Amino acid sequence: MEDQQTFKSYTLLQFQSFIQSISINRKITHIQIHHTWKPRKIDYRGEATIVGMWRYHTQTRGWHDIGQHFSVAPDGLIWDGRSLESDPAGISGHNKGGVMFEIIGNFDKGEEQLEGKQLEAIIGAVRLIISKFNLKLDNIIFHREYSSKTCPGTGITKDWFLEQVKAGRASLPDSQGFIDSPKWKKDYIDWFYQEGLLSSEEWKKDIEASLPLWAEALVIKRFYRKYLQSSNELITRK
Ligand SMILES: [Zn+2]
Repeated sequence: MEDQQTFKSYTLLQFQSFIQSISINRKITHIQIHHTWKPRKIDYRGEATIVGMWRYHTQTRGWHDIGQHFSVAPDGLIWDGRSLESDPAGISGHNKGGVMFEIIGNFDKGEEQLEGKQLEAIIGAVRLIISKFNLKLDNIIFHREYSSKTCPGTGITKDWFLEQVKAGRASLPDSQGFIDSPKWKKDYIDWFYQEGLLSSEEWKKDIEASLPLWAEALVIKRFYRKYLQSSNELITRK
């Protein structure tokens, strides 16, 4: 039965590993921010809530799948949805290249608050998508910028949201490279490249991300070669 549709949830940390591990054929150009409005935060019942939205999108609205790629729950869990290989069904006429987030809740003024673990999760997830697909802050769009709706809620201003993304914990790539990382971190990175231990500029795009195992092996091999070379030189000089 179609009702057996299941969804997977990630903590922000698990979401980071997931996003860093995938490769997507579709060209990602922007991030869409939405609130569900209904269900509200108080209606949230874990996976059943996501299945409910899926059922509404596929059965009532007749779409082929749930509209959003990810739903961010009040408890900070990030639920998967539509495949990232497909454009979302979020903003009429503006879905091409989008990654769509639905923040579960009604964030219109005087209704619910985007705060705590849920705020941390949406901001962290947006930063990871920006980093993964080399996007900029300008590539974050609110539904209401292209619609008469209030989505993602009149209680959330775009300026405030972008400030949160900018101020997030991990480094964020932007037009000037790794601008918001402290100097001492950049100094280490510069040394790494000067010594030839890393050569691809790709790695500089997110200096907070971890290297895949093969790249760590490469760095160690290069270091080992240099080490052998210099100790051989010492021996022959004797
Ligand atoms: Zn929306």
